[in-house]
Amino acid sequence: MTTSLIPTLHLTRVYELLIDTYGEPKNVPDYDALGGLVGTILSQHTSDINSGRAYKQLISTFPSWEEVRDAPTDKVADAIRSGGLANVKAPRIQDVLQTLTEQMQASSYQGTIGQYLYDELVQRTPEEGWRYLRRLPGVGPKTAACVLMFDLDLPVMPIDTHVHRTSIRLGLIGARVSADKAHELFAKVVPAEWVYPLHVNLITHGRRVCHAQRPDCTNCSLYKECAYVGSVNAQETAITG
Ligand code: SF4
Repeated sequence: MTTSLIPTLHLTRVYELLIDTYGEPKNVPDYDALGGLVGTILSQHTSDINSGRAYKQLISTFPSWEEVRDAPTDKVADAIRSGGLANVKAPRIQDVLQTLTEQMQASSYQGTIGQYLYDELVQRTPEEGWRYLRRLPGVGPKTAACVLMFDLDLPVMPIDTHVHRTSIRLGLIGARVSADKAHELFAKVVPAEWVYPLHVNLITHGRRVCHAQRPDCTNCSLYKECAYVGSVNAQETAITG
C-alpha cells in the first residue's frame, strides 16, 4: 500500500531500530470485521488465551451472530464465561448486534449482520470507519482500531497501554498526550504500511524491555533515540498537531 504521509526523522529512526530489533511483523487479516469486533470485546481485561477460548465456545454454542443476538443473555454469558466479565460482555455483544440489526433494517439491507458490518466499513475511509465503529455501544477507540487494523488490514493504529507508554518515553509524543490524541497524531505522520509493524513492535518492546516498572534501559536497542533517558529532547522530537 502506498501513502503520501511523511514520517518525522525521529519516527523513522525509531521505526527502523524496532525493525532491526524485532523484525517486520506481517498482518494476516481474515476480513471478518464482526468476528473481530466480538473477539476484541471478549479480549478486554483478560489474556489472549482466555478470550480465544471464550470466542471458540461462543461460536460453537451459537452457529450465527443472529443466534447470539436473539439468545437469552445468560446463555451468552455462560458461553463466554472463560473470558471473564461475562455478565458485562454478553449484554455488550448483544447490544452491538442489536444496533447493527436496527441499522440494517433501516436501510433495508439484505444479508447477514457480518456482511453488513463489513460493507459499512469498506465503503468508508479508515478514519470514518473508526468513527463509525466508535458509535456502536461499548466500542472504544482501541477496540475500533483493532478491528480495522487486524481484521481489515487498514492503517488505523490501536493505542494500547504499551504503545502509549513507549511512545511517550521514546519522545514520539509529548508526556501529557492522551491515547486518543496519540491516535490523531500518529494518523498524520505514520505511513500506512508502517502502522501494523509499528504497533506490534512497540507492544513487543514494551513487554520485553520498556516495562512499565523498571524499564531495562541498559539493554535497550533504542537507547540513543529515547527521551526518557535524555538521548533526545521530546520537545524537539514529539509529533505535533
Ligand atoms: S531506553 Fe529505557 S525508557 Fe527508553 S525505550 Fe529503552 S527501555 Fe524504554
